[in-house]
Amino acid sequence: MTTPEQDGAARLAARKPIPKPVPAYLPTAGSPLSVDKNLYSTIQQAARILTDEFTIPIRSGRAWTASAGSIIRISTPEGPQVGDLNIWNLHNPRERFWASRTKQLHASHVSTYDRLWSNLPFMRPMLTIIADTLSWYGQDEHGGRVHDLLGTRCDPYINNVLSGGEFDFHCHSNLTRAVMEYGLNEGDVHDVINLFQVTGLDEKGRYFMSPCPASKGDFVEFLAEQDVLMALSRASVSLLFFALGVSLSARVCSSTKRLADSILT
Ligand SMILES: [Zn+2]
Repeated sequence: MTTPEQDGAARLAARKPIPKPVPAYLPTAGSPLSVDKNLYSTIQQAARILTDEFTIPIRSGRAWTASAGSIIRISTPEGPQVGDLNIWNLHNPRERFWASRTKQLHASHVSTYDRLWSNLPFMRPMLTIIADTLSWYGQDEHGGRVHDLLGTRCDPYINNVLSGGEFDFHCHSNLTRAVMEYGLNEGDVHDVINLFQVTGLDEKGRYFMSPCPASKGDFVEFLAEQDVLMALSRASVSLLFFALGVSLSARVCSSTKRLADSILT
């Protein structure tokens, strides 16, 4: 009688070569997964009016609204800093960002021209990334990439389970406090995109985080594809203690606005 280990080894030895897999969701021409790069580039470069600007200080989060067609820039004005972002449909918070599906549709880490999609039954783009000053990062020598969808927000519950600590300025708590003024609560906080965060999976599939490569003035810009409520927490992991900047812009070029309106869903 063979042991499970012997049986497994025999099956592994007998396994036929596996063809190189292809991505499950390769965009075809005209697919909503592949945006019109010329159009989005035109939108990114069009004239804008700055409508709001603020920084998020240590141990806090903040929520804000952005109307469809506006541009949201999230930056690192002081140096390396990671931010945990949540997104809701402004008019119906049951529609919210779906990190897992976005990861399937695009990649484990996203950059320019990728979209952030909403949950079921909505399944619509909420934001499209139109600029990313860290797009050069690619894949580092350990397999790490930036703007992470593999992980999620830090929270006080797992902190308590693992260490018994009572620290309550984790991103989950910061996001919860930030959305209260919009009538939402802890149950509305969902899996995030970790902006400016480098992560990956090691040779055993274990999640790891590497130092944030952002410098002063790095940014990601999003085009709002629908009216959204957004909330951002300044992550306090490792030695990152800088502020995050957020600026909201309305585009003013009317021809570009018409182009953008035609792609809004
Ligand atoms: Zn965090």
